[in-house]
Amino acid sequence: MYCDLHTHSTASDGGTPPQELPAQARAAGLAALALTDHDTAAGLPACAAAAGEVGVCFVPGIELSANRAALKPAPYTPAPGDRLGTLHLLGLFIRHDDPGLAALCRDVAQARAQRNPQIIARLNEMGLSISYDEVLALVQAQGGQVIGRPHIGQVLVAKGYAASVQDAFARYIGEGRPAYVRKDLLPPGRAIDAIHKAGGLAILAHPIQMRCADAAELEYTVKRLAEMDLDGLEVWHCDHGPAEIQAYAALAQRLGLLVSGGSDYHGPRKAVALGSQQVPVEVFEALRDVAGL
Ligand code: AMP
Ligand code: ZN
Ligand code: FE
Ligand code: FE
Repeated sequence: MYCDLHTHSTASDGGTPPQELPAQARAAGLAALALTDHDTAAGLPACAAAAGEVGVCFVPGIELSANRAALKPAPYTPAPGDRLGTLHLLGLFIRHDDPGLAALCRDVAQARAQRNPQIIARLNEMGLSISYDEVLALVQAQGGQVIGRPHIGQVLVAKGYAASVQDAFARYIGEGRPAYVRKDLLPPGRAIDAIHKAGGLAILAHPIQMRCADAAELEYTVKRLAEMDLDGLEVWHCDHGPAEIQAYAALAQRLGLLVSGGSDYHGPRKAVALGSQQVPVEVFEALRDVAGL
């Protein structure tokens, strides 16, 4: 039996409505499912109710984007063209109505509201005809709460400027591309504390995306997060190959951290299937036990 502890719905930048995810999880043979939308808990009640109906164990979750630069060996001065990488923290087993987490999500929404029009302005400077209203209309049509680059990418595809959302990232809006604008300034310790105060476990998502230069930087970074009370590492993820899975599992064991895993399913926007990481259900059970549920 398998579980999938990292998925997105239309409440953020996924393609599947939250109430439809559990039936898909069940069809994929999953015993447990976490919904971990970016910076919002809005999809959790509907997903929890649907999971109860189809008999899938549900893990209420969230994915917070934190400041990667804060964990660089100081002082960090980026070289031209340097790609800093991302630092995403999953909160698993959170209370969906925690007021502290809600306040943090409002701050992040504000940062997004400032950044997204800057991306559009850069695209316009490059001669691409796209407006922020077009992006807002798309998000509203999907009932979304969080506006992100995948939505901008989808509009670029619809207008013929990119062949796919991935292509839009590779050409325009991904890190290091001309229309990229950084937004992730949340201190990692604040994200971890907010997850804990909401009753959750804090898991470092897809460690590979931190773009550590080598094993020593990876260990340094994870140790600093562990000092901030990080609970675990996401070992299985669609961006990890067999070598990474082995390395992250070994690191977690060495540092006494829990392990988690998931597909990072986003619906049709990303070529990754729900349940595709084949994470053993025992991983879910161990996390649930530590969460005290
Ligand atoms: P944002 O939070 O608005 O900066 O957007 C980040 C989202 O974009 C994440 O959920 C990723 O899944 C998605 N993303 C990041 N890089 C890529 C890429 N190269 N191709 C497709 N999606 C991506
Ligand atoms: Zn996403
Ligand atoms: Fe992520
Ligand atoms: Fe994700």
